Amino acid sequence: MKYAESIVDLVGDTPLVKLSRVTEGVTQATVLVKLEYLNPGGSSKDRIAGRIIDAAEREGKLKPGGTIVEPTSGNTGVGLALVAQQRGYRCIFVCPDKVGEDKRNVLTAYGAEVVVTPTAVAPDSPESYYGVSDRLVREIPGAFKPDQYSNPNGPRSHYETTGPEIWRDTEGRVTHFVAGVGTGGTITGTGRYLREVSGDQVRIIGADPEGSVYSGGTGRPYFVEGVGEDFWPTAYDPAVPHEIIEVSDAASFAMTRRLAREEGILVGGSSGMAVVAALEAAAKAGPDDVFVVLLPDGGRGYLGKIFNDKWLRAYGFGNAPSGHTVADLLA
Ligand code: PMP
Repeated sequence: MKYAESIVDLVGDTPLVKLSRVTEGVTQATVLVKLEYLNPGGSSKDRIAGRIIDAAEREGKLKPGGTIVEPTSGNTGVGLALVAQQRGYRCIFVCPDKVGEDKRNVLTAYGAEVVVTPTAVAPDSPESYYGVSDRLVREIPGAFKPDQYSNPNGPRSHYETTGPEIWRDTEGRVTHFVAGVGTGGTITGTGRYLREVSGDQVRIIGADPEGSVYSGGTGRPYFVEGVGEDFWPTAYDPAVPHEIIEVSDAASFAMTRRLAREEGILVGGSSGMAVVAALEAAAKAGPDDVFVVLLPDGGRGYLGKIFNDKWLRAYGFGNAPSGHTVADLLA
């Protein structure tokens, strides 16, 4: 009988698929995408959850009956909730009230608890997202805060899994690796592995939303979710990428929609962003070049936004004037 012992044993080993329509007339290179939405929790964050929890157990930061507390509303929460449930830990996620109910419901469906904090308070207020999670960690005995932005086990999990999978599946023929940068864990870990294993022959390219610090911005708001920052997390090693390509929200969303419609790949906006950056670099590449682009999550969580014409127009990505703020958008 062929079966997994538990759902968490199915994390990783995601497939590569070749793009053929969106690359037509743009590049002679082979462009392969790695489908991280096929992880059990639906994103690349499943990979980091197991290793972050393993390390906390080893280091005595998480003991039987312990509680995981993290300010997160998205993919990291799902990954942590999955592993925590399997190992009997309580999970509390703190998220701002601008996070949609659907996203919170996914976390509670996995058995996590969600604490909602007001968006309209200063970041250093005790009521803020960070203020509340810090207080919960202090007050709950046996609480552990993974902090994906500074936890070295984030990049390490990509060094140990994502990088080797790409090298194995391309039989060492990969020449370029492209990924969006959020905490920086994916590009740091995967990029470091691919540079080392290839004798520095693989070019590492980060994709970043216009306005984020990685591409020289100040953190000006952008609409693509999960990538870009207004500070420099320690999970990110700026020495790993050779290049960072800046991508506009409009280009990211347009490509995200083309991937669904033309390639049958329904993914989120950060995936579209990474493909735009890859095609920009691949336009200058030759027929022997092999690009691997990591697509972090699926598109179902964005049906009301990126895949909704009215939403796109209302936020200025169609023809109608904008007139909305980022806070509205994220609501
Ligand atoms: N895309 C999405 C949708 C994400 O949730 C994340 C994680 N924040 C990323 C991209 C970026 O990955 P990383 O944090 O490893 O840089």
